[in-house]
Amino acid sequence: MFDHTIPELSALLRDRKVSSEELSRLYLARIARLDGALNAFITVDAEKAIAQARAADARIARGEAGPLTGIPIAHKDLFCAKGWKTTCGSRMLADWVAPYDAHVVEQLDRAGAVLLGKTNMDEFAMGSSNENSHFGPVKNPWDPARVPGGSSGGSAAAVAARLVPAATGTDTGGSIRQPASLTGTCGIRPTYGAVSRYGMVAFASSLDQGGAFGKSAEDLALMMNAMAGFDGRDSTSVERQKEDYARDLGKPLSGLRVGLPKEYFTADLAPDVASCVTAAIDELRRLGAATVEVSLPNQALAVPVYYVIAPAEASSNLSRFDGVRYGHRAASYTDLADMYRKSRAEGFGAEVQRRILVGTYVLSHGYYDAYYLQAQKVRRLIARDFAEAFRSCDVIAGPVCPSVAFPIGEKASDPVQMYLEDLYTIPVNLAGLPGLSVPCGLGAHGLPVGLQVIGNYFDEARMLQVAHQYQLATDWHRKAPPGYGA
Ligand code: GLN
Repeated sequence: MFDHTIPELSALLRDRKVSSEELSRLYLARIARLDGALNAFITVDAEKAIAQARAADARIARGEAGPLTGIPIAHKDLFCAKGWKTTCGSRMLADWVAPYDAHVVEQLDRAGAVLLGKTNMDEFAMGSSNENSHFGPVKNPWDPARVPGGSSGGSAAAVAARLVPAATGTDTGGSIRQPASLTGTCGIRPTYGAVSRYGMVAFASSLDQGGAFGKSAEDLALMMNAMAGFDGRDSTSVERQKEDYARDLGKPLSGLRVGLPKEYFTADLAPDVASCVTAAIDELRRLGAATVEVSLPNQALAVPVYYVIAPAEASSNLSRFDGVRYGHRAASYTDLADMYRKSRAEGFGAEVQRRILVGTYVLSHGYYDAYYLQAQKVRRLIARDFAEAFRSCDVIAGPVCPSVAFPIGEKASDPVQMYLEDLYTIPVNLAGLPGLSVPCGLGAHGLPVGLQVIGNYFDEARMLQVAHQYQLATDWHRKAPPGYGA
């Protein structure tokens, strides 16, 4: 049961083999049994979940069910969900209850999905290991001594451990694809503007994009069908027709041109990861795709550019958490300035404080031109590299992460090493492109490796087609962490 994908669960619900209430109770019991060791959830609310499940069962009985009706899901804890604590993994918002639903929450609710809980994350989505959470680190179900990746590590670990069939995440620099890769799950970061950011607590607004985790490309397509679409409440939501992301899943790959960036296959890539990714690309060739070498010459500048732009935007976005308008307020202070200082010093963890300091610095008079403006110019060059590459290919394939999941604590004291985790994911965010990760093998220590598929703007359906065709021919996405298969 717990190994099932969304369409498989959906068929059981439709055929009345199981009710949504039964299914939700099974998952809730599994969370209660197993999450103590993983820490994937910050909040679980059985009462709210069961009420939603009963509503889904009534809808199924009326014959009005869609593909997600009755399916249990979880939201990363930075999506506002009415009446739910929405902490962003921070002490700053540890007790904050959202008064309204994010667009994504509303859409999945409308589709009939059952919200079981909110997942753990790096504080304000800043991190690559989930060690930056006020609520403690998340453990990787493949090896509890290792990180699940971040910042959407709770969602990734929950899906990997079969605590929930699918979950939402956000990807500002890799926070869906990297944890998906490290936990052997599937994750998609859509084109910037495809999924509304309304009600999604902002980290770096020009890079943030909501997306999803699931067990298969088909799961991701179904989640996207519910989540994506125009929303006037987000000024960067792109006005386009609703589309069916599953429409091309069944099409063969013959004639498809897969670009392989030569900068992605260098000494930075661990050999075990390289061999899994290369084998996956061979499989795509067997399925009829043609490969072409492409070049992304400014790729090496992506991480430095990101660590100017993302902190700059974060320093501005996080200024609202001052203990007055939002967030934790220090218990004692001498005057207004002291209250701001103490509240922010107590409410924010070390990484968030580092980003605010860096961001404030690069935006300050005298440094703005040298850092922020310069970074914006290089960002444009990085986007241009992709545009050039997509002249000769339909999708780009490569690694997601330079290595398999690393031990908890290994990179915690070395921010630059941590930042380099996102070497292959950040360029996609800077360009505003969509990218996904699907499991493509087991590397060192038997740990999962992800294949990244990057598409052109709004070409998610084609990326999902590539992933689905690959999954028809292989079974890496079916592998559960030892002890978690069911
Ligand atoms: N790891 C990156 C960071 O720390 C990306 C995070 C994200 O995508 N939210 O900023």
